[in-house]
Amino acid sequence: STIGQLLRDTAKRFPDRQAVVFREQGIRWTWQEFADEVDVVAAGFAALGIARGDRVGIWSPNRVEWLLTQFATARIGAVLVNVNPAYRLSELEYALNKSGCKAIVCAERFKTSMYVEMLQELAPELARQSPADLHAARLPQLRTVIRTCDTETVGMLCFSELVEMGRVALETTQLDAIDATLSAHDPINIQFTSGTTGNPKGATLTHHNVVNNGRYIAMAMRLSEVDALCIPVPLYHCFGMVLAVLACVSVGAKMVFPGEGFDAGAALTAVSDERCTALHGVPTMFIAELDHPDFATFDLSSLRTGIMAGAPCPIETMKRVMSRMHLSEITIAYGMTETSPVSFQTSTADPVEKRTSTVGRIQPHLEAKVVDPSGQTVAVGETGELWVKGYSVMQGYWDDDARTREAIVDGWMRTGDLATIDADGYCNIVGRLKDMLIRGGENVYPREIEEFLFRHPKIQSVQVFGVPDPKYGEEICAWIVLRPGEAMTADEVKDFCQGQIAHYKVPRYIRFVDEMPMTVTGKVQKFVMRERMIDELK
Ligand code: ATP
Ligand code: MG
Repeated sequence: STIGQLLRDTAKRFPDRQAVVFREQGIRWTWQEFADEVDVVAAGFAALGIARGDRVGIWSPNRVEWLLTQFATARIGAVLVNVNPAYRLSELEYALNKSGCKAIVCAERFKTSMYVEMLQELAPELARQSPADLHAARLPQLRTVIRTCDTETVGMLCFSELVEMGRVALETTQLDAIDATLSAHDPINIQFTSGTTGNPKGATLTHHNVVNNGRYIAMAMRLSEVDALCIPVPLYHCFGMVLAVLACVSVGAKMVFPGEGFDAGAALTAVSDERCTALHGVPTMFIAELDHPDFATFDLSSLRTGIMAGAPCPIETMKRVMSRMHLSEITIAYGMTETSPVSFQTSTADPVEKRTSTVGRIQPHLEAKVVDPSGQTVAVGETGELWVKGYSVMQGYWDDDARTREAIVDGWMRTGDLATIDADGYCNIVGRLKDMLIRGGENVYPREIEEFLFRHPKIQSVQVFGVPDPKYGEEICAWIVLRPGEAMTADEVKDFCQGQIAHYKVPRYIRFVDEMPMTVTGKVQKFVMRERMIDELK
């Protein structure tokens, strides 16, 4: 089905159950109220001249306008373009022009970024033009800017005005008729990757891709209408849009948004206030929650399940999450934006040992193989690059055939991740192909060293990566964040490794830092560390 039909169906099944809670904005809607509001906004977009295939940008932290825009654009077949909340002028300009956005929904600000002011700087014409008829030199395809405003700004439409337009237009807009003309294989979303290894890439996804992925994710979690999911992960990323929102919408589970950005205390408060049964997060978020100074005071007894995904999770952390956060049924999911995103996921049917140490088995209707550099499938249990094929593989990178051809071979998505799959089909992500380093002819997998160092009681987090070296090809470098109040020397770290891991795996360069460079999705950017180390070692 299309995303629009999915929401209508759920609203029909559970009209009076709670659907959406935005705690910061004080919004609580039932499924009927939510679906009706979506239709109003959809009619508003239609009145602005947005039609099937047109691109609409969204540049906002987790706010209700985000969710409304996601479903309203889908309802009329427009393509939602998720703009990274961390973008600055040149990136914003590039993303909007590359995707050819006709309209953008924009929050006033997020953290220290003044979104509206940045847009005005990029398009000074905004101050002069009437709201729905922009002609900006640097954003030639953009016609309308809709801001989530409380105060008025000349030249921009307020989201509330869009809603008003929608209310007027609703009766004459044949939304169900429009929906009936759409195909589930229409592109619905240009979803950007996290930018962990470089510049984010825009993956073109269809209704079919993401609706089905959401359904299978919900099944693996045994999610149903009695569940309430706390969503501290960003909506702009597939973790929020698909693993959280579409999974909930497919079964009628309640969505609870603790706030605009991630805050461990706000997430824990939301769980205890709303009696949430599920909680999502990337490993860094769960670690921040476990380490919260008031952790013991939150009542987390309602929790049952959730998803840990997006980056490798240390096994120790996984065990603490299961035992200390009441998340005994938490599942690990593996995926990438380009595969809508999830392809492997653990479920409660799996043995506990597999649920802490692997990313589970392949989702229904997907295939996977592990290949060597020549594309040959390796033997069971051997390490190679993971390739995935099936319903969830993206159409391609938006307007980038060359990169698409590199990424998708005969329908197989090359994940760029190194993995092993055992005889029972359980997959273990060894690391990124790009992160693997070869030191003096030996393959070194940073994750293995990270897992080892993470066991040291003084170490809060650790990242390992390679830097070029004239003698060995590459040398191993470790960045370490210590637990509060701890001190440590590089020699202590090396002593800890002595006799425990092979000598060629012991990091040569060790740096103690306050924090790691991160993407908005909470992932650590090793390429940034690598660049800084190369500079330092010059
Ligand atoms: P970019 O492609 O822009 O460099 P990215 O790959 O981080 O960024 P995403 O699509 O958000 O962008 O993330 C997908 C990647 O995240 C996967 O390819 C994998 O490396 C990593 N990943 C996701 N889930 C897991 C997991 N459960 N365990 C280990 N790694 C994971
Ligand atoms: Mg990627």
